[in-house]
Amino acid sequence: MDKAVAPLATTLRAAYILPRRDIIIEKGQVVISGSKIVEVGPSLPEAGQGKVIDLGHAAIIPGLINAHTHLELSDLQDKIPPPKSFTQWLGHIVAFRRRQAGRPLDYAVEKGVSFSLESGTTTIADISSTGDSLRILPNFPIRKRVFKEVICFEPEKVAAVMEEAIRELSDFKKACSGRSKSDDLCSAGLSPHAPYTACSKLYLGCALFAQGADLLLCTHICETQEEVEFLREGTGSFATMLRTLNMLGNWKAPGMYPVEYLKAIGALKGHWLLVHCNYLTEKEIKIIGETAASVVYCPRSRKYFGHQEHPFRGLLSRGINVALGTDSLASNQSLSILDEMKFVHERYPALDPVEIFSMATERGAKALRLEEKIGKLMPGMEADLTVIELAEKEGTVYDRLLSPEARVIFTMVAGRVCCDRYGLM
Ligand SMILES: [Zn+2]
Repeated sequence: MDKAVAPLATTLRAAYILPRRDIIIEKGQVVISGSKIVEVGPSLPEAGQGKVIDLGHAAIIPGLINAHTHLELSDLQDKIPPPKSFTQWLGHIVAFRRRQAGRPLDYAVEKGVSFSLESGTTTIADISSTGDSLRILPNFPIRKRVFKEVICFEPEKVAAVMEEAIRELSDFKKACSGRSKSDDLCSAGLSPHAPYTACSKLYLGCALFAQGADLLLCTHICETQEEVEFLREGTGSFATMLRTLNMLGNWKAPGMYPVEYLKAIGALKGHWLLVHCNYLTEKEIKIIGETAASVVYCPRSRKYFGHQEHPFRGLLSRGINVALGTDSLASNQSLSILDEMKFVHERYPALDPVEIFSMATERGAKALRLEEKIGKLMPGMEADLTVIELAEKEGTVYDRLLSPEARVIFTMVAGRVCCDRYGLM
């Protein structure tokens, strides 16, 4: 930004500042100038710069990061009947969309952005299946990494699918660079959906293209036992689904667990977000540990489908980066990462809450390769922050932050106020 026209600074004060894991500043302040943080420290009466706002009994924390969502599905809350199986749930979504006959999903994406900002999320990793979120997200003041989702189980059709995806990504890039103020908020990725909808040729094509174009990669992996059965035995509900759609052809099951399979076909190179990982073997954990991949744990989506206990604690202890995601409103009650954090805190009371905080901030930033810009409150970093009004109760600041009554009162993205519950600005 041109220094000559830099806007006046803003000073935000609160009872606590949690600038990064393991640091707590009591009665602190964050000074923001333009889109950047210029100072973080104790609040001294004479030291406020520009407009000074006191947020009271609250904690200022790095903006929360949702490492996996599908904003195009934000109109589906309570619209999908409780499914008996994962494939039935997929079928419900496809049937719902068919009834809408290709209507653009701009309203759903817009709703999803509002839900996110109001609940303290400043960065989203969004999966664009229809292309709608890829097309309109550049218009919104939320930080985003948007992944074009690709689906193709028939190798002979992969080239055409890739061509179309590359065209959409190029349009997205143009739309982002056309907006000088917000272009910094946009980045892209490519997402082969899952091993039962993306053939090995598509996985490999995405991995190769992403390396050349410096894109992040994302896939749903090890989400269900049915997926594991499909890859190991070639049987089960996914095989039936593909056979019914006449897409299975001469496909032969690789006879491997999902992560082993991605490694075997040479697709695990590059920066992957491995979403879900509900069912991992020891061997797969070792493979992930040898790559640059991050795992995205979606706590309440896992509960919705009744999957087994998630191995995230074991992954963290093995040095694997784990971030948090909400998944979509078709399998969750809200798009709030704070709600995910509260859920994990309640379910694992013995887990150090600092780990939960870290998965929603620093680890999320690392997963999205944005750790130089966001995930911590430090001078020189982007002014992406969330203010949470703490619960009035005994306990540490983290206990009060993760208790059910704690709520988001203020959200800022790159110095721009995106939620201000008390109208302080
Ligand atoms: Zn998903």
